[in-house]
Amino acid sequence: MSGSSKANRKFKYRRNKLVEKLRSKGIHDESVLSAINKIPRHLFVDTALENRAYEDSALPIGKGQTISQPYTVAAQTELLNVKQGEKVLEIGTGSGYQAAILCEMRADVYTIERHKELYHNAREILQYLGYRLRFKLGDGTLGWSAYAPYDCIVVTAGAPVVPDELIKQLKLMGRLVVPVGDHEKQKMIRITRISEDAYEEEHFNNFKFVPLIGKKGWEEGRSTDT
Ligand code: SAM
Repeated sequence: MSGSSKANRKFKYRRNKLVEKLRSKGIHDESVLSAINKIPRHLFVDTALENRAYEDSALPIGKGQTISQPYTVAAQTELLNVKQGEKVLEIGTGSGYQAAILCEMRADVYTIERHKELYHNAREILQYLGYRLRFKLGDGTLGWSAYAPYDCIVVTAGAPVVPDELIKQLKLMGRLVVPVGDHEKQKMIRITRISEDAYEEEHFNNFKFVPLIGKKGWEEGRSTDT
């Protein structure tokens, strides 16, 4: 057996184990679990970290940022309740892993990242894996009005408040999943647009994210934003 097929078998085995772990932690959506079972997470981190890629933990990706913990990615995606063909906006492309999960679930994906280097790296790996989606370099707290409205919006960085621009870019029955809190912890919130001007707000567990920096987020300059 060649070295690379041996490595691929090793990663496949670890992905299976990770999926079992996520299931035991309460993730039930089979479309989310199946996407996690397919995406080679080790390709979204530096080769020095690839042996840790299937641990259920966040890992550094440069610029003081992280690829989110698989449980966090799974929990946010499950809360979005994404259906095939739905239009999904992601704020915080980071490594591109969450975007790959959404593409694998056959969503129509739009993703925004504020760090140029991360934006370029994510574009490269997602194109290499053959996914088709739209990327933007900029401040995602303002959403992406050119393609609005969206069925789903997911914010993968911690916000001080729910960014109002994002709420405005939801379709009727559209879902916004956003972690909101201080720099230590954030509550996962889901907002569903139930009519032209009415919204339902649901609160879930606490998580810890890197900060959402931008006009409708935190100000730039905290130590975690390098
Ligand atoms: N979804 C990512 C993944 O799968 O790797 C997780 C990325 S990390 C937890 C959060 C990302 O949000 C960082 O890459 C950070 O630079 C980005 N970010 C923070 N504020 C942002 C903003 N206003 N607009 C776009 N991206 C932002």
